[in-house]
Amino acid sequence: MEKGLLIVISGPSGVGKGTVIKNFIDDPELKLAFSVSMTTREKRAGEEEGVNYYYVSKEEFLKARENGELLESAEFVGNYYGTPVKEVERIRNAGKNVLLEIEVQGCRQVREKVPDAITIFIIPPSMEELEKRIRGRNTEPEEIVQERLAKAARELEMTNQYKYVICNDDAELAADIIRLIIKRQMELANRK
Ligand code: 5GP
Repeated sequence: MEKGLLIVISGPSGVGKGTVIKNFIDDPELKLAFSVSMTTREKRAGEEEGVNYYYVSKEEFLKARENGELLESAEFVGNYYGTPVKEVERIRNAGKNVLLEIEVQGCRQVREKVPDAITIFIIPPSMEELEKRIRGRNTEPEEIVQERLAKAARELEMTNQYKYVICNDDAELAADIIRLIIKRQMELANRK
């Protein structure tokens, strides 16, 4: 069986990655499975253990990283995030394409280990729109909002490390473009 593709999606906090991903992840033609990351951050309202993240303590996270259990990891606004190697391998070895939704430092580590990863960065239509979306979520204190905005500005300067940059002006359109990219990459992989 062909090993599945590894697809990385990044984009600043609040850009609407989740909504875009929701619009294509269940398309059966794409044979996708979402890789659930490990994080030390608090669970947000509506999130579920093992669905959105595996929520762990800092000690557990650092131990997993030390034991080589993470494909990549990063610190983001005071918390640790990482991709379990096991999760990714299980999905790819089953012939499914794995989707990682990670930030830019993590993407760089993935590219070093898996050079043929398909990397996609989602940009907002403007910084004003991004700020509106972050505030609209209304789940975090002002200092965190400011930190996430500053972080977004820095991340937007690093989009050149990605193969594809897509504007999320309309989540369905962005999802359609990503669907097209994945289908084409699946065709190319099968031709090898
Ligand atoms: P949030 O706290 O909003 O869920 O995520 C914050 C940032 O961490 C987002 O940019 C998200 O893409 C990123 N992220 C989530 N999981 C991982 C992971 O396993 N590794 C890395 N490097 N970043 C992650």
